[in-house]
Amino acid sequence: MSLSRFSLFGLLLASCSVVNAAEPKRPNILFIFADDLTCQAISAYGDKRKLLDTPHMDRIGKEGVRFDRCLVTNSICGPSRATILTGKYSHMNGFYNNTNSKFDSSQQTFPKLLQGAGYSTAIIGKWHLISDPTGFDHWHILPGQGLYYNPPMIRNGEQVKHTGYTTDIITDLSIEWLKNRDKSKPFLLMSQHKAPHREWAPALRHLGWDHDRQYPEPETLFDDFAGRSKAVSDHDMGLDRTFTDLDAKFRPIPNMNEEQKNAWDAYYEPRNAAFRKANPTGKDLVRWRYNRYMHDYLACVKAVDENVGRMLDFLDQEGLAENTIVVCSSDQGFYLGEHGWFDKRWIFEESLRSPLLVRWPGVTKPGGVNNKIVSLLDFPETFLDVAGVKIPSDMQGRSLVPLCRGETPADWRTSLYYHYYEFPVPHRVRPHYGVITDRYKLVHYYKPDVNDWELLDREKDPLEVKDFYKDPAYAETVKELRAELDRLRKEVKETGEPPRAAYGNQPFDGEPKPPEPAGKKAKKA
Ligand code: CA
Repeated sequence: MSLSRFSLFGLLLASCSVVNAAEPKRPNILFIFADDLTCQAISAYGDKRKLLDTPHMDRIGKEGVRFDRCLVTNSICGPSRATILTGKYSHMNGFYNNTNSKFDSSQQTFPKLLQGAGYSTAIIGKWHLISDPTGFDHWHILPGQGLYYNPPMIRNGEQVKHTGYTTDIITDLSIEWLKNRDKSKPFLLMSQHKAPHREWAPALRHLGWDHDRQYPEPETLFDDFAGRSKAVSDHDMGLDRTFTDLDAKFRPIPNMNEEQKNAWDAYYEPRNAAFRKANPTGKDLVRWRYNRYMHDYLACVKAVDENVGRMLDFLDQEGLAENTIVVCSSDQGFYLGEHGWFDKRWIFEESLRSPLLVRWPGVTKPGGVNNKIVSLLDFPETFLDVAGVKIPSDMQGRSLVPLCRGETPADWRTSLYYHYYEFPVPHRVRPHYGVITDRYKLVHYYKPDVNDWELLDREKDPLEVKDFYKDPAYAETVKELRAELDRLRKEVKETGEPPRAAYGNQPFDGEPKPPEPAGKKAKKA
């Protein structure tokens, strides 16, 4: 682990009881985090469909560095959040899935370590780890998934209600906390949005923002999965088969007041009536859903972007920008119609890759781009390094501070281990693990009714629609990647069979239902 100038400063701090006023002040950390925000929806990443302009997120990249291959280790909400807090894979921090995992909040997390090192710490917005937050001086969170309108929230254990659009409210509360914080300490603020998570409910001001645009389609909107594993084709996350009435906005969004609902209906009702009259089927129906989905999802991102702008403006107004590292990211990527999908979970590029934009004045060079394999696993090490706090040896990632400076260590990783568990609900994505390199992915779908390997070659097949595993020309590549996968599994200490609970609490087809908890049985008797 290299020592940054702030790590050195941390050592000096530890050895001196009196801090010289001339010493640099430890940087503040502003972590702006969205849920299911994908690179294709951020203009800084240059998607060829040109779906949306995001000037404020782009500004972080322009004034700092854009990471082009920030990968997740388990592409789903709660597990990603647990990995960011702990710097550990799901099998090490115990949070495998969104169905039945509960975060063990007694374990080591980076906010606890920063709090112990004298940082003022706060988390505002989406938490989604079931147990109460620990390691924060202040927490003000959405219960569970949270609501898009008039959200009930929990402030340091007390239930409170808010009126308005949740993305705006999270920023209001974040700015309010920054105004009232203990100014004698540096801060860590995790400002975490619910948006643009399903059911993609836009702010009223963004209804019709796209003027009924017909969006360019991804090349794989009608992927037929020819030659692919049953694990890939037998999904339940397609625009053709899984899109619900709530997804399509044929049902009202929960918790709106009358005024909000009237404005909402004024936009959706005439368009829904036109849909019913036209009654599209087959590919036309998929196309209609794709365009509705893009209007709604991208509107949610637009609100996140505006609120990123508000946070950056506040830092400027308060003179905080110079000494604050701003990190903007998401818990995974998302499908915007690629392979005919919405949602996430897969090892394939769109859901594997999170956006990551970092601005750290004096450290990041404006307009920097980094294409190395980095990961959410690296975030806690990075935050600790930024603060000059010792990185615990049991964290499994690595500080990104050198990469922020534009210096990639010679021994930087060239592969990453991935493991997704949650099955069968929701979306019937079979558990799979694999190894990812710059060019290849070797994947094993292993449970419960499949035992298939696939090899993806992003250089030959950037859309990831072909499997090269059985192609004799790739025999040597497969052999090398199998060896690398074995090495990585040992390195990350996942060599055994995951516990049954890792997959959730729903039975697989044909599997006996799990026994009811003892407490419930006792009640019945
Ligand atoms: Ca998510």
